[in-house]
Amino acid sequence: MRIILIGAPGSGKGTQAESIRQKYPIAHISTGDILRANVKADTELGRNAKGYMESGKLVPDSVIVAMVESRLTEPDCKEGFLLDGFPRTRPQAEALDSILEKLSISLDAVVQLDVDDEIVVQRLTTRRVCKSCGEIYNTVFKPAKVEGVCDKCGGDVIQRNDDKESVIRNRLTVFHEQTAPLIDYYRSKDILVSVDAAGGKDVVLKLLEKMKGAGK
Ligand code: AMP
Repeated sequence: MRIILIGAPGSGKGTQAESIRQKYPIAHISTGDILRANVKADTELGRNAKGYMESGKLVPDSVIVAMVESRLTEPDCKEGFLLDGFPRTRPQAEALDSILEKLSISLDAVVQLDVDDEIVVQRLTTRRVCKSCGEIYNTVFKPAKVEGVCDKCGGDVIQRNDDKESVIRNRLTVFHEQTAPLIDYYRSKDILVSVDAAGGKDVVLKLLEKMKGAGK
């Protein structure tokens, strides 16, 4: 199975990806996670990407496309993959088309997670993350037992710089201007399906099962 998840920051792409991966052994490719790992490891890619990420801007297409192209040729993508956070611009979508053509493979579905901007702001400004193990917390729904300390590993629980409200508003503007047009791009290819992001953490998995059952 080869699918793309498209949705605003905070629409829950990572959560949906996790539930899909528990059922299907496919590679979860999150460009945001790959970039953050590079920033943490202080690689050249990470140093180049950091400024864009902290201000909520997109990392240049050429950098991202090269990164994804190399990732898609890794062995764990043979069974399929789920792209989370890529493509985010029209040039990235066109580059992906060429990469898939070169690899003689095609996409099964592009799933759009629909969510209201104000829900995103509420969700992300209250999100916290453990700097060491990546465990996700929420100051309202799932606070750490001791504020600032990870329940799982004792690491520092912090707010990501790009989860500050001004940056989130920026990321939403970037999403509406650059990424939302991809919804029409994939609709015109007849592979787009939309779901309500408020439908629960298994909403995309259920949809994929339904599509499989219908022989799509
Ligand atoms: P995410 O965790 O997917 O929201 O990504 C965090 C940040 O990484 C974004 O705000 C961008 O700065 C950068 N990023 C991730 N994926 C892409 C992409 N496909 N194109 C450009 N920048 C990206």
